[in-house]
Amino acid sequence: MTDNRNLYRLLPKVDELLEEVDIKRLLASIPRRLVVDSIREELDILRRDIGRLSLNREQVLDRKNNLVKSVVDRAHNKDLPKLRRVVNATGTVIHTNIGRSLIGEKVMENIEDIAMNYSNLEYDLEKGIRGSRYSHLEDILVKITGGEAAMVVNNNAAAVMLVLSTLAKDKEVIVSRGELIEIGGSFRIPDVMEQSGARLVSVGTTNKTHLEDFERAITEDTKVLLKVHTSNYRILGFTSSVSAEELSPLSSKYDIPLVEDLGSGVLVDLSKYGLEYEPTVQDSIASGVDVVTFSGDKLLGGPQAGIIVGKREYIEAMKKNPLTRAFRVDKFTISALEATLRLYLDEETAVKNIPTLNMLSLTVDEIGKKAQRLYDILINAMEYKGLNLNIVDDYSQVGGGSLPLEKLPTKCIRISSETIGISELERGLREFKIPIIARVYRDDLYIDLRTVREEEYKIIAEGLKYSVGKIGGIVT
Ligand SMILES: *Cc1c(COP(=O)(O)O)cnc(C)c1O
Repeated sequence: MTDNRNLYRLLPKVDELLEEVDIKRLLASIPRRLVVDSIREELDILRRDIGRLSLNREQVLDRKNNLVKSVVDRAHNKDLPKLRRVVNATGTVIHTNIGRSLIGEKVMENIEDIAMNYSNLEYDLEKGIRGSRYSHLEDILVKITGGEAAMVVNNNAAAVMLVLSTLAKDKEVIVSRGELIEIGGSFRIPDVMEQSGARLVSVGTTNKTHLEDFERAITEDTKVLLKVHTSNYRILGFTSSVSAEELSPLSSKYDIPLVEDLGSGVLVDLSKYGLEYEPTVQDSIASGVDVVTFSGDKLLGGPQAGIIVGKREYIEAMKKNPLTRAFRVDKFTISALEATLRLYLDEETAVKNIPTLNMLSLTVDEIGKKAQRLYDILINAMEYKGLNLNIVDDYSQVGGGSLPLEKLPTKCIRISSETIGISELERGLREFKIPIIARVYRDDLYIDLRTVREEEYKIIAEGLKYSVGKIGGIVT
């Protein structure tokens, strides 16, 4: 039996470790308190292991020799921001878990200018008096969508809530049972309605709703006819739903506003780029919808935002709702959204410069070329016996609850191995300093080139080397 007390005495003091050359060097770039925390934590672990694992003298000395390195690693880790960039190798373009839409360079220039300077956020430059933060986006939204007026809040969930609270608080909203959806992050239409104070009147059945169902349900208390885009699922087979075009005359006849939650909010006809047709905001307005809401960071490809477009009288009422203050967007969102919307003034420019649209419109040949380039880089960067790399056909997804049935033909680099665990390889990639998020399917790892940009090829090569090395494989 070893005498534990003597072993504990082998451990250095915090102050002693702070005098180590490597740790002194660390202090030049990392805040002292993070370094001291790292030292304490590493010492605690070692102290605990002496008791728990009954380490012998030799093992303790061995661990002690590695202490400085462990502290350095831990401190570097602590120094990384918690919210970090990752590489999206999943092929899912609008991936809610890893940031939905990317901001392109042109839009970023605008954000930088507004972020680093004062701006006319709520200042009317012509009159020299207080202005409105909503004015900057209204004209361009009206121009692009064909609506009368527009406003922007923090996200589409807030937009739906604001619309219902303004138009139907303590009153009734009629919606089809087939459209009572839940989208990710527990956004459920019935729950949002309850929060807004509106009473839900659902009509029809799960698979079929007819115009008469709506008309029969109308009472004195009906204040909104609501259509919700069933973004993330489809009912197939024996189905029928009532279109906005059919509902519009009913809404006029009873003078009840027709509201549509479009979810994604596409502004260009995606079928031109080989995707399934998705109703655009312009279509919704043209078919007689009075108020339409949609997200800024799904298919639109801008910052997180909820956009509301429609008849002026309703939009004006919403601007006066106290909830608007709680849901208001900040200047970064306004500058990013304005710059993104400006790109839409020319469709070709939009598709070229908005990363979401750009990735969605890539052809399989273009992705194939990217796959070949990454493949060459990976093969040149490392040689690992037991790892097989191939370029294969596959499908990527749109994501963000948009076009759930759409399968976009793509090219992937498939990594398979008989000797090393693919799930370990995947974890190593995730733990790399720039985490790489890839897909695992049936014991193979897939890197989908649709969502990987050229400047990220090197990161993937380094990450793969890191991951293989970590597992204990031979990298040369
Ligand atoms: C995504 C979505 C929302 C929520 O939008 P956020 O901008 O994420 O708040 C609401 N309704 C539908 C139909 C959606 O697809």
